Amino acid sequence: MIQAKGIAAFSAKQPLAPYSFERRDPKEHDVVIDIQFCGICHSDIHQARDEWGGSMFPMVPGHEIAGVVRAVGTKVSKYKVGDHVGIGCFVDSCRECAHCKEQLDQYCLEGNTPTYNGKERDGSAVTQGGYSNVIVADENYVLKIPKSIPLDKAAPLLCAGVTLYSPLTHWKAGPGKKVAIMGLGGLGHMGVKIAKALGAEVSVLSHSEKKRDDAMKMGADKFISTHDKENFKKYANYFDLIINTVSSADIEMHNYFGLLKLDATLVSVGAPDKPLSISPFPLIMMRRNYAGSVIGSIKETQEMLDFCAKHNITPEIEVIAPDQINIAYERVLKSDVRYRFVMDMAKI
Ligand code: NAP
Ligand code: ZN
Ligand code: ZN
Repeated sequence: MIQAKGIAAFSAKQPLAPYSFERRDPKEHDVVIDIQFCGICHSDIHQARDEWGGSMFPMVPGHEIAGVVRAVGTKVSKYKVGDHVGIGCFVDSCRECAHCKEQLDQYCLEGNTPTYNGKERDGSAVTQGGYSNVIVADENYVLKIPKSIPLDKAAPLLCAGVTLYSPLTHWKAGPGKKVAIMGLGGLGHMGVKIAKALGAEVSVLSHSEKKRDDAMKMGADKFISTHDKENFKKYANYFDLIINTVSSADIEMHNYFGLLKLDATLVSVGAPDKPLSISPFPLIMMRRNYAGSVIGSIKETQEMLDFCAKHNITPEIEVIAPDQINIAYERVLKSDVRYRFVMDMAKI
């Protein structure tokens, strides 16, 4: 077994703390990765605090993993020692269902294997994530990080990047389309940059006026404060696509539905701990669509990494040492992150 050092949540109510554990020895198709950087996603907080239910403790969170290949199994063909690689939100899937065969493995009909807070497919062990110094994963669920993207900036792309890239491309954000991103956090700011690179007109719908200048620097065409209720009238029937990245259920969805054109779509990716309250009337009245989307496939994640390298897109990050994790969580909860915390795992 491989000895690993990590940071774990031991229960929903305790601060995270150091944790020593073991990773499996590499099987034929496994890659052993020295983790260099790991992003902090709001989903880590939801799960560490058991806000979605069913959390398994001790839990080493982290699914925005960037590192360097330390060793490979005997039959690995995609990677070699020294390669820059990443791992996102899942490390396996059934590989046989209709969705896996269509390379939509994030929607595996048997459920994908989450990078942490899940069980290996054979049920043998609980998976543990990237708040650690080493990870072992099957090469088919490992991503190649283009050399032009530094590893600290690559990490958040593995979840925040692909979670926005997938719906933006699926719902065809591009030239001539008006796209709005709700919430300028880790996911939201990647949405602004990617939608802009796809050629869309991009607006930010934010409850934090202080983020206005940052949003414009990231390439947004408009910053729309959601505190000013007049804005919901001003931009009624305006957008072709809205992506909701807000981590809280404390938002009045009918206001946002009203911003969509006839037949346009609002996609929720934000996954709050409580249900959203939704009135069907604004959907009914303008034949609008309400949809959801989860992360992205392995194929899309690779496509997104290459797209970001080509368009020079990287996240805005604040690199912290692993012992700052509990402070970072509190700042994320106060929407006080510019715009993704990334832990330097070499300092663990
Ligand atoms: P984050 O960095 O904390 O950003 C969330 C943003 O939501 C905040 O920056 C803030 O933006 C806005 N917000 C927070 N509280 C609010 C409130 N009370 N009222 C209005 N706006 C509020 O979180 P993240 O890492 O981007 O994740 C966002 C959500 O997506 C989380 O729920 C996470 O679990 C989920 N997620 C889903 C997927 C998926 O596959 N579907 C993948 C990853 C994450 P402003 O300050 O600009 O208003
Ligand atoms: Zn995430
Ligand atoms: Zn499957």
